[in-house]
Amino acid sequence: MKSRPKHDFSAIDRILLDEETIQRRVTELAARISADYAGANEDGLVLVGVLKGAFIFLADLARRLTVPHHVDFIALSSYNRGAVSTGAVRLIMDTRIPVTGRHVLIVEDIVDTGYTLEYLIRNFRARGTASLRTCVLLSKPERRKVDVPIDYLGFEIPDVWVVGYGLDFADLFRTLPYIAGLKREVYEK
Ligand code: 5GP
Repeated sequence: MKSRPKHDFSAIDRILLDEETIQRRVTELAARISADYAGANEDGLVLVGVLKGAFIFLADLARRLTVPHHVDFIALSSYNRGAVSTGAVRLIMDTRIPVTGRHVLIVEDIVDTGYTLEYLIRNFRARGTASLRTCVLLSKPERRKVDVPIDYLGFEIPDVWVVGYGLDFADLFRTLPYIAGLKREVYEK
C-alpha cells in the first residue's frame, strides 16, 4: 500500500469547534430541516452537496433527516493554495438528479466571500426548482463581499483558514473530526 500523506499538525493554531459541538449542531439542523420539509411532495427533498468540502457534513446531516430525501453532488472550482478569491466560479461537475419542480437544499461547507453560494443560487433558480434553500455549516461574516441567504447555518467563525470535517488545506486535513484554524503564516505565505 502506498504511504498516505501525513497531516502536519504543527500547521494547526487551535481547535475552533470540537467534535461534540459539531455533532450536536448537525443534529439540531437535521431536526429543523426535517420539521420544515415534513410536508414536501412525494418526490421529497433533493440535497445537493458541494464537493469536496461538504461531503462529511452532508453525510452526517442526511443520516439524521427523518424526511425522504435524495442525495446529489455538484463540484465547483475552489481556491488554490493561498490564492485570493476573484469571484469567478466554474462548474466542474453537475448534478445528475433532475431538479426542476423539486425541493432543493444546497449543502455547503463554508461561506466566505459569498461568490460561490451566489453562483449556485442563480444557477439553481434558473432550473425552476419548486423551492430552493441553503444549509451552510460555517460562515465568515467579516469576509463577505456579496449578501447571500443562508437558511440553515451551523456556526459563525472568525476570519481564519479552517480545516477538518471535510474542509482542507492543499487537500489535507479533511478527515479530522473537529474544525481547526491554521496558523496564519501557513496559508498566507
Ligand atoms: P466563497 O465563494 O464564499 O468565497 O468561498 C466558498 C469556498 O471557499 C468554500 O466552499 C471553500 O471551498 C473555500 N473556503 C473558504 N474559506 C475556507 C476555509 O477557511 N477553509 C477551507 N478549507 N475552505 C475555505
